[in-house]
Amino acid sequence: MKKIIVAIDGYSGCGKSTTAKLVAEKLNYVYIDSGAMYRAVTLFFLRHEVPLDSTEAVKKALSLIDIRFEYNPYTHKSETYLNGESIEEEIRMMAVSDRVSEVSKIHEVREAMVALQQKLGTQKGIVMDGRDICTHVFPHAELKIFMEADIYIRAERRQAELLAKGEDVPISDIIHNLQKRDHIDTSRAESPLRKAEDAIELDSSNITIEEQTAYVIELAQKIIQHLNLSKVLNDKTPVC
Ligand code: C5P
Repeated sequence: MKKIIVAIDGYSGCGKSTTAKLVAEKLNYVYIDSGAMYRAVTLFFLRHEVPLDSTEAVKKALSLIDIRFEYNPYTHKSETYLNGESIEEEIRMMAVSDRVSEVSKIHEVREAMVALQQKLGTQKGIVMDGRDICTHVFPHAELKIFMEADIYIRAERRQAELLAKGEDVPISDIIHNLQKRDHIDTSRAESPLRKAEDAIELDSSNITIEEQTAYVIELAQKIIQHLNLSKVLNDKTPVC
């Protein structure tokens, strides 16, 4: 059975991660949250007060970072580990969200994370979401999706997520954070967030998670079927 790469890019709060997770579950693929990697690096930099303007300090810090995703049998979820410690909760807090885009635009950080993401994708059978997955990390992914949504809807979703984790943040602060990150992510010099030419646009403002997930699954299944059919046809030994 041929496997594909499903790449999903887009703005924060469009439901990228939730969609990617559910699509991976349905296809029995591995889900990789590339944003979590940049968040893990940011957390390490914050904890160790790494000066972002010192290339030497950034390189040294990166050499000390080990990021992994492991399944937690108690929560039934894949969690992000930084040097052996589960940091899944901490990386979603506002303190990290406030700084992550500054850290993500550093060349050495992107180089290290992209190399790790590409390594994780060598066997295919993955769903990865982020900002440059379709344009830079996997430009040859079989299925590319670009997600967007109204800023107020995105902010409301983020607010609900934070509240569920015990952090009560005013909507105005969340909108400000999203706008600031959108600006940095779309205007940075290296692999800025933009729609890949061959990506399919998906506006999630007025549709449910179930609808957007079903849409992506249908697209993925069609591609997988097509690839497998071509494989069968090409493998067929000619009848004499
Ligand atoms: O997806 P999430 O909101 O967790 O991503 C956090 C931040 O990580 C983004 O705002 C962006 O600055 C950065 N990021 C990135 N490239 C990716 C994924 C995330 O620059 N592929």
